[in-house]
Amino acid sequence: MSNGRSASAPRRARPAFSRGRAFSPSRLALHTCAAFCVVALSGCPRGDGARDTGEPPAAPLITLDTHADIPLDFATPAVDPRNANLQVNLEKMARGGLDAAFFIVYVAQGARTDAGYAQAQADAATKFAAIHRMADELYPSRIEIAYRADDVARIAGRGKLVAAIGIENGFVLGKSLELLDRDYELGARYVTLVHDGDNDLARSARPSKDLGDGDADTGVSELGASAIARMNKLGIMVDVSHGSKRTALDAMRLSRAPVIASHSGVGGVLAHPRNMDDETLLALRDDGGVIQVVAYDEYLKARPEEQVAALRELRSSVGLTERGGFGALTPEQRARWDEGLRAIRERWPPATVRDLVDHIDYAVKLIGIDHVGISSDFGGGGGVVGWQDASETRNVTSELEARGYSRADIAKLWSGNLLRVWREVERVAAELTARGAP
Ligand SMILES: [Zn+2]
Repeated sequence: MSNGRSASAPRRARPAFSRGRAFSPSRLALHTCAAFCVVALSGCPRGDGARDTGEPPAAPLITLDTHADIPLDFATPAVDPRNANLQVNLEKMARGGLDAAFFIVYVAQGARTDAGYAQAQADAATKFAAIHRMADELYPSRIEIAYRADDVARIAGRGKLVAAIGIENGFVLGKSLELLDRDYELGARYVTLVHDGDNDLARSARPSKDLGDGDADTGVSELGASAIARMNKLGIMVDVSHGSKRTALDAMRLSRAPVIASHSGVGGVLAHPRNMDDETLLALRDDGGVIQVVAYDEYLKARPEEQVAALRELRSSVGLTERGGFGALTPEQRARWDEGLRAIRERWPPATVRDLVDHIDYAVKLIGIDHVGISSDFGGGGGVVGWQDASETRNVTSELEARGYSRADIAKLWSGNLLRVWREVERVAAELTARGAP
């Protein structure tokens, strides 16, 4: 497949690595964490910070999480978005200082049959409706949907929370790319090409034998290339999380605008199919894109064989299957599960905010501060010790401060980089429309 960019199109500039340059005495005074005190006491030259006092004051920090899943009954009487027992609800967002979140229209990969496509589209319609019900009907004074990148700061500036919408799994399209136009109208601003199991658009990082997926990494299909072209034209970000390595590299080559990885880990810290290796991350940097490093235990911290075996044994001893079954447990089984899990976590402590920031640090060192962001995957298995739900969001900021990131860099990680890509995607869409591209 030919490169989507014409030879005359300027290569996107690679922004300079800027970590640690943006200190000013006034900003330094804001940092009260232990790490900074240690730095100050050990005689770190303050003069380093005196260089940039001419900078305008930093804009307010906007925290944006690019991946929060919702259940199918979200925004119904059973699941009130304000205070339901979810990792992300409006009260937890407000309490923890999480300003904005992409709420996700996720559909599981099923059989690629008419019935499979119909089920996926029905589930997607349910979730789109739920997000709109939350923002447009139930809580319009507390949260508003962002349809453009600039809406995020505008809405947050009025003291409201921000919702954006992403689709997880291009399976919702089946083979009908015109559905992209409708989904754009409904507010979808990114589409994760593929999930667990291949679909008609792309190869998954975790293909499914059950669904009959083959062994070869076939990357983005012809239909997937057409979908990317349509997303470029509409102004929808292309998301390569869950895609195979070739899918990610193909998507970058094909897309006329930078791509995102909305929730992925860093392969240089932990080799895992869902993590991006150095080569892919460097390509993402050259593409102008961004990886939103995800707070997902399994992708952040290695699980020794023994731990995996202990977990497997516990599951079967209480009657759980690989796919779950929590709803069917008796209170006695549930108690045994909780007890067993506690013991496993004591022996092999789960990932923490520090592990998350280790992945962020590695990515920043490799590809620069301008290409890294943050995501939770709350509601989809995400959450680490210290950031178990939206109410603990400030702990992530504190850990970044403790590692020495400046306020300006933290602002980039929390939303600046993602919003830059979103704006670029909008710019490319406007240009393609003006040129009359099909
Ligand atoms: Zn996911």
